[in-house]
Parts: sequence; structure tokens; C-alpha cells
Amino acid sequence: MKCALVTGGSRGIGRAVCLQMAELGYYVLINYKGNQAAAEDTLAAVRAKGSDGEIMQFNVGNAEEVQQVLGGWIEAQTEKYIEVLVNNAGIREDVLMYWMKNEQWRDVLGASLDGFFYVTKQVLNGMLLKRYGRIVNMVSLSGLKGTPGQVNYSAAKAGIIGATKALAQEVAKRGITVNAIAPGFIRTDMTAELNEKELAAQVPMNRFGTPEEVAATVAFLASKGAGYITGEVININGGLYS
Ligand code: NAP
Repeated sequence: MKCALVTGGSRGIGRAVCLQMAELGYYVLINYKGNQAAAEDTLAAVRAKGSDGEIMQFNVGNAEEVQQVLGGWIEAQTEKYIEVLVNNAGIREDVLMYWMKNEQWRDVLGASLDGFFYVTKQVLNGMLLKRYGRIVNMVSLSGLKGTPGQVNYSAAKAGIIGATKALAQEVAKRGITVNAIAPGFIRTDMTAELNEKELAAQVPMNRFGTPEEVAATVAFLASKGAGYITGEVININGGLYS
């Protein structure tokens, strides 16, 4: 049975991606860090689409947890295998570099950049054996242009962009594509406390994007039809930056 693993699948963009994967007929593995109620809500919504899945709790930035929970799941499977991996989990802790604490640097890099590495390491072997796979990494406009107040977040996302391009070349011959999506302002919990009216005025489309608009591009990159696209970063930002 073909599975799609979505890290940070409980809320926001990840949740919308889980629903898209369900529509494509995947068994959806919904990773989350702490919000079990939200993860169960997402699972119910996946089932309402006529597909199935399970919730999977681990901190993507913790190597041992990823090994135990995800590695253990993979090892125990005889029929299920992960064909699509969406590295979506991420946090932001915005502060000017001058005031940034070591933990704020480490936490943000841990959830995004370390998370990409630990999770992808577990999943890659199965894709290599099957000679097929789709990896989509959620980065950000900040990883391309850099955003003041987000030195940690910009570094984490820029790091994943470099890793995306390098890994894409390593595994291309095995039928695995590795791409990244760089959203601008998307309406989720992560952007809930921002002044949407003021910031949307800077966006040529004059609005924030929706999680569903991001998920639609994930679905495209996960499709067979996108098989010759790899090492790319696709912007979804309403014309804010290109
Ligand atoms: P969100 O609404 O805050 O949701 C974050 C998700 O990530 C939740 O499911 C959360 O799980 C999970 N998560 C956080 N840290 C984790 C960890 N260490 N291990 C496992 N799961 C973890 O965020 P979002 O706006 O949907 O963002 C999703 C991705 O898009 C992030 O990588 C973000 O950087 C990127 N992005 C977002 C925007 C935007 O405007 N929203 C723009 C550019 C890029 P719990 O529910 O358990 O807490």
C-alpha cells in the first residue's frame, strides 16, 4: 500500500497537504509534535475523503525519536511503503540577530533543517529500493531573499534549498525527485498574529494565500506527471517575489 508521510500534518499547510494526498488515494501518515487533537481531526478529514491513514507523533528535530517511531514503523511494515515524503514541519521564532538566543537559533534549525535530514534519511532507503519516490520540502520566501528578524528561519530554509538541489542530483537516476516549495504569506496559525491587512498590501495579489493553494502544488510535484522536475524551488507568494 502506497503511503504519503507529511511532517507537521496536524495543522495549517501540512493538514491541507494530507487532504490532497488522501484525494490522490494515498494512505496518509500524519506526523505531529504535540497537538494530538489536531492530528486526529486531520485523520478524520482524511477518512471523510474516503482514504485512510494514521497519526504519528515524533519531534522531527530529535534523531532518536525519529529513529524509534518512524524507523520502527518502517521496519515493521510488510506491505506499506512511503512513496511520497513532504517535509513540512517548521516553526519560527522571530527576533533580531542581536537579541537572538542560542536556543532560538537551534530550535528553528532543529525543526526545519535537522528535521529534513533525520526524516529523509529514514525514508530514502525504501525509495531507492523501489526506484521511485517523491520528496517535497516546504521552505519559504525567507530562505530565498532573507527576511530581517528571521536570521534563524532564513538560514534553516536556505539550508534546505541547498540540500534539495544536492539530494536531487544524488537520487535522480533512481526515479526519485526532490523539490522545494517556497510560500510567501499563507493564512495559518503561524501567521495568525501578523497584521494581515497591512502585509497583504505589499502583495501584488493583495491577499494572503491559502493552505490549499500550497497543497495543490505539492500534489502536482508528487504526481507521476512531474517526473522530469527535480531540484526546483517553486514560489507561491502572490507575486511578492520571484
Ligand atoms: P503551523 O500552522 O504553525 O503548523 C506547524 C505544523 O508543524 C504543526 O502540524 C506542528 O505540529 C508541526 N511541527 C512543528 N514543529 C514540529 C516538530 N519539531 N516535529 C514535528 N512536527 C512539528 O505552520 P504552517 O504555516 O502550516 O507552516 C508549515 C510549513 O510551511 C513550515 O515549514 C513553515 O515554515 C512553512 N511556511 C509557512 C508559511 C506561512 O505563511 N504560513 C510561509 C512560508 C513557509 P503540532 O500541531 O503538533 O504543533
